[in-house]
Amino acid sequence: MDFVKLYEIIFKIYTDCGVTAFPIDCFDIVRKRGYQIQKYSELSQKKRKACLCLSPDSCIVKDTLYYQDQNTAERIRFSIMHELGHVFLQTSVEEMADTFSSHILAPRIAIHKSRCHTAQQIHDTFALSYTASNKALQDYKVWYENIAHTTRMPSPPEKQLELLLFSEKCNMPEAEDRFTDDNIVYTPDPIIIYQDIQRALMAGLPLTEEYKRLLKQYRKMRSL
Ligand SMILES: [Zn+2]
Repeated sequence: MDFVKLYEIIFKIYTDCGVTAFPIDCFDIVRKRGYQIQKYSELSQKKRKACLCLSPDSCIVKDTLYYQDQNTAERIRFSIMHELGHVFLQTSVEEMADTFSSHILAPRIAIHKSRCHTAQQIHDTFALSYTASNKALQDYKVWYENIAHTTRMPSPPEKQLELLLFSEKCNMPEAEDRFTDDNIVYTPDPIIIYQDIQRALMAGLPLTEEYKRLLKQYRKMRSL
C-alpha cells in the first residue's frame, strides 16, 4: 500500500466534501461523491436478497450505495467507507478497502494531534468500533515509531490534512518538533538513536542538528 498516495486521496476527499471535524460525516461524503443511498430494510425482498448476497454490510451497485441499517452505527460507517475504498483505490482487495476505511475515518495524524492514547479515546473521537479502534491504535504506534525513527515529519499530504483540521494549533513556530514532544507517549528508543548516531559517525555521514545536540549532551555527561 502506498500511504502517501492513500493520504493524497483522503486529503482530496476531505477538501472536496468540506470535512472539517471528527467524526466525519460518512453519508454526506457518499452523497457528495454522487451516490444515492438506500437502506437494506427499505428494499423489496428480491433486491434485499441480492444485496445480502453481495455483502451482509453494504455494497455499491451503479450509482447507489446500499447498506444494512440494522448494523451498529460504527459498523455502518466502517462498511460504507470500505465500499468507497474499493472505488477510490480501484481495487477488489478486501484488506486494502479496510485500510482505506480505517485511515479515512481516523487519519493517523489526527489520532496523533488529538492525543489519543487509548482505544476508548479513538472510539469516542472517530466513532470507530472497539475492534477497529484497537487496530487503529496498534497501527498508530507503528506509524508514530516509524516517523520518530526516520524523518520526524508526517508525509506531505498528512501535513496538509493536519493544517486543514488542526489549523488553530498549527500556528506554532515551524521549528517546533512535535515528534520529540515530551507529552507524547510513544517516544523514540534512546538505544536506537544511539545506534543511529554510531552508524552515521562510522559512515562519515553528517548528523542532524538534533543528533549533534544529543551527542554533545552525551559527551558532556561522560566527561563529568
Ligand atoms: Zn469489500
